[in-house]
Amino acid sequence: MLLLFFLSFPKGICFPLGPRNPIAQQQHTDAHDTLNFVPLFADVALPVPLDRAFTYSLGDLTPEIGARVLVPFSGQRLLGVVVALHDNPPSPEVELKKIERLLDDAALLSPELLELARWIAQYYCAPLGEVLRGMLPLTAEVRRHWVYRIAEQGRNVLYDGANRGSSRRSKLSPEDQNREYAVLNYLEPGESAKLTAIRSATGANKAMLDAMVKKRWLLREPLTEQRDARRLETVAVLLEPNDASEADSGVPGELARWGGKRIPKLNDNQLAVMAELAGCGGRELLRELRSRLSRRGVPDSTLNTLVRRGLIRLEEAAQAFHVTSLATHGKRFAHEHTLNESQTEALASIVAAMQRNTFAPHLLYGITGSGKTAVYVAAMQRALANNKSALLLVPEIGLTPATAAQMVAAFGSEVALLHSQLTPDERAEQWHRIRRGEARVVVGTRSAVFAPMPNLGLILIDEEHDGSYKQEETPRYHARDVAVMRAKLLGITIVLGSATPSLESWNNADRGRYTRIEMLQRVQSRPLPIVEMIDMRAEFRETGQEQLFARQLIEETQSTLDRGEQVIILLNRRGYSFVVMCRSCGEKIECENCAISLTYHKHSDETDLTGPARVGARLECHYCGFRRGVPSHCPKCNSEHLFFLGAGSQQGEERLQELFPGARIGRMDRDTVRTRGDMERILQRLHSGEINLLVGTQMIAKGHDIHGVTLVGVVGADFALGLPDFRAAERVFQLLTQVSGRAGRGDKPGRVLVQTYQPDHYVNQFARKHDYTGFAAREMYFRRAMRYPPFAALANVLIQSERLEEVLAISTQLGKWLAANRPEIVRVLGPAPAPVPRIKRIYRYHLLLKSERRDALGATLRAMLAHIEASGIPRRNITIDVDALHLM
Ligand code: ADP
Ligand code: ZN
Ligand code: ZN
Repeated sequence: MLLLFFLSFPKGICFPLGPRNPIAQQQHTDAHDTLNFVPLFADVALPVPLDRAFTYSLGDLTPEIGARVLVPFSGQRLLGVVVALHDNPPSPEVELKKIERLLDDAALLSPELLELARWIAQYYCAPLGEVLRGMLPLTAEVRRHWVYRIAEQGRNVLYDGANRGSSRRSKLSPEDQNREYAVLNYLEPGESAKLTAIRSATGANKAMLDAMVKKRWLLREPLTEQRDARRLETVAVLLEPNDASEADSGVPGELARWGGKRIPKLNDNQLAVMAELAGCGGRELLRELRSRLSRRGVPDSTLNTLVRRGLIRLEEAAQAFHVTSLATHGKRFAHEHTLNESQTEALASIVAAMQRNTFAPHLLYGITGSGKTAVYVAAMQRALANNKSALLLVPEIGLTPATAAQMVAAFGSEVALLHSQLTPDERAEQWHRIRRGEARVVVGTRSAVFAPMPNLGLILIDEEHDGSYKQEETPRYHARDVAVMRAKLLGITIVLGSATPSLESWNNADRGRYTRIEMLQRVQSRPLPIVEMIDMRAEFRETGQEQLFARQLIEETQSTLDRGEQVIILLNRRGYSFVVMCRSCGEKIECENCAISLTYHKHSDETDLTGPARVGARLECHYCGFRRGVPSHCPKCNSEHLFFLGAGSQQGEERLQELFPGARIGRMDRDTVRTRGDMERILQRLHSGEINLLVGTQMIAKGHDIHGVTLVGVVGADFALGLPDFRAAERVFQLLTQVSGRAGRGDKPGRVLVQTYQPDHYVNQFARKHDYTGFAAREMYFRRAMRYPPFAALANVLIQSERLEEVLAISTQLGKWLAANRPEIVRVLGPAPAPVPRIKRIYRYHLLLKSERRDALGATLRAMLAHIEASGIPRRNITIDVDALHLM
C-alpha cells in the first residue's frame, strides 16, 4: 500500500509545512548564507495536537533547522524543533513571541530524518511536533522544575499590606504572615524563582508557597531545564565461590547450578534473593532485581545483608543493554554458521543490491527454521565492511536476550540495542552513542526506525508481518512502512523478512515493487513438522463433554514427555476464564469502564520462586486494567448461578498439572512475563530442560529457537476467526504457522496438533500443508473482491468522548460532511459504533474510509481535518488511523 503512494512521490507529495523538499530547502538556506541572508523568524514544531507549526521571532539566536528550542506556548514552556527559518512575519493579529532558549548548537536531526518526519506527518495525518517528539527520545535531558511567580492578586496584597500593616483576620501567626510578605517582596520584581531560592531568601517552605498559590497570590509553573543524561547504573553480581568471603560454604556455586539443595546459614528471603540472581545468569540491573524481589515480598534489607556478607557485589556499569548471559545452550551463534545454499543465495542477492547504492526493497520469504538470522548477520557484516551502518528492527517481543546475545557475539561493542524497557536516560545515552557513530549496528523495536545513524547502508525488518510495528497512539505510524520510506529517501537496500509475510508486502512482491527472495528449506534439511487437525465436534460427540484438551493431545503429550522431549501448548487467552455469565439473566459481567467482558483470574498459589507475583482471585479488564473481587451473586439480578466460560492459559496450566503430575510445567503470558527478565528466565528454563511442558499465549509463538520441542498443541485458536475484522484469517494463519514453526527445530522432527471446530476452514487447511503461498492467493481474492488492503488504502476515523451525545453529534456532522465532500473514488462506511463501543469510559464511534487511490484518501482526510478545525470540533475527540491494523 505504501508503494501506491510512492508511485506519486515526490510529485504528488505536499508537505504541510514549508517547501516540498527539505533537503532542497537546506541547500536554499545555505545559498542564502553566502548572500548574508539573516532569518528573523523560525517555524517551530511543537508536541501539541495541532496540525501546524508556530512562528517565533529569533531575537539574536541563530538556530539551525533541526535544533531544539524552548518556547512559550499558551502559558507553558514547550520543547520544540525548528523546522524552517525565514523572514516572513506572521499576520499582525497574532502576538509574536520570542524563542526563549536554544538547546542545540547544531541541528540535532539530520535533514534526512526531518524529511522522514514530514512524510510521516503528511501520510499519517499527524502533527509534525508529535512525530518529532517520538523521534527524539531526549526527554531525559530535560527535567521539569516548578517555579513560582508573583500574581496580580499577590501584588495587590503586597501594596495593600504596606499601607495597612498586617491583617488581623488572618489565621496565620504574625511570623508566618511576615514570611508571606517576604516571599511577595522577593518575587515582586517579576522574575520566577525556584523553591530552593525562595526558601534560602525568606525561610518559606513548600507548604507555605502552595498555600499562597491557592490564595492566588502566586503562580506555580513548570520550567524545563536541560541536564545531562546519566551514564552509569548499578548492577548486582552474584559472586563466584572463590570471590566470596564465605567461600568455604560453597553457597554461590551451588546456587549458580540452581536446582540444588537447601543451603544452611541463609534464611528463606536470602535464599530467594540468591536464587533470583542465579536465575538470571548471576548478573542483573539493581533496579530490575529490586522490583522483582518486592513483587515476591522480599524486603530490600535482605539484599543489603547479602551485600554486607560478601555474597553479592554491587558495581557501577556503563549504561548499555545488559546481556546477562551469552549462553547459547549448545547451539552456535548466527555468525558462526557456514551458510547453506539458500542462505548464500539470499545473501548474494542482498549484497548485490547494496553495491548498486540505490533504493532496493526486498521481501525475504523464509520458512520457519530456514535460518534467516544468519543471513541478517552476514548482510550486516558486509555493510560494516563497506563502512556503512546497519539497522535491524525486531518485533516487541523479539528482542529477547537470545537475540541480543547473538548480536553482541557478532558485533561486540558496535551494537546499540533499543527496546521499550529502556529508561529515558538509557534511551538518550544510546541515541547519542548512535549519533556519534560509535554504534554502527542498531538492533531495536519499533521506534528504533528513527535511530540517528550516520551513513546508514542497510535496513532489515525481522518478522515484518508483526503487529507490534504499528504504533497504536499518535503518530500511528507503521515502522515497517516508515523504514521503507527511509530506505527510499536514502537510496539504500531494505530487507523485509518473514515466514508469513503481510499481504501488503506479498502484494508488493507480486507486483514487482519488491524483489522476492525465498528460503524454502529448513537448515540441514530438517523437515517441517507434520500438522494434524483434531475435530473438536467429533471429540464432543464421542466423549459427551466439552473438552479443553482432546484425548489425542493428552496421549501424545504424555508420550513426548516420556521420551524426554518438550511440548508447547498455545492457549491464546490469559487468565482463568474469559467470560463470567449469569444463568438466570444471561448477562455477562462487564467492565465498569469498557464494553468488554471481565476475565476471571484465579488466586495464584504457586510457591515456585520464579512464578508470578501472588495476586488474589479477581475479575480483570484486559483493556483498562480495572479489577474487582469475584462476586458470589449476579450484579444485575442477584442470582447466585454464575458460571465461568472459556479457558485461558491459567486454567490450561492448572488442568495440565492435574493431567501430568510428573511434568515440569511453565506458563508464558502477560501475567507471568512482565519484564524482559521474566521472559529470559522462562526461556532459560526451557532451554535447560527444567521446564518440559510450556503453556502460554501467542508470546510462545514468537521466534524462539528451542531445539528440544517436538510437539506443539494449539487450543482454541480458531475462536479468533469469528472476530469482526477483515484481517482475522490472516492473523490466525500467521499464528498457526509461527507456533507450528517452534516444533522440530533440533535433530528430532516435530508434530503439531491443532484442536478446531472448523477443520475444513481454508485457514486450517493451508496451515496444515504449510502452504503460505496458497493461503495468500486465496486471501488476496477475498481482499480484492471486498476492496480491502492491499487493494485499497484504508483509514479509520475514530470519534471519542466521555459524552455519548457529543460522539453522536460529531459523528453525524462528519458523516454528512463526508457524504457531501468526498470524491467518488473514496468510499465511506459509517458512522457506526466501533466494535468495542466504550473503552475507559470513553464512547467510540467510527468512520471507515477506503480508496484505491491513496492520494485521494489523504486529500479527503486533510480536507476533513480542515473542516474539523473550521467548525470548532475539538481535535482531541478525533483519531485518524491511516492503514489501521485493528478496527476494534
Ligand atoms: P528462522 O528465523 O528462519 O526461523 P533461525 O535464524 O532462528 O531461523 O535459525 C534456525 C536455527 O538454524 C538456529 O538454531 C540457527 O542457529 C540454525 N542455523 C542457521 N543457519 C545454519 C546453518 N547454515 N547450518 C546449520 N544451522 C544453522
Ligand atoms: Zn443475572
Ligand atoms: Zn475496562
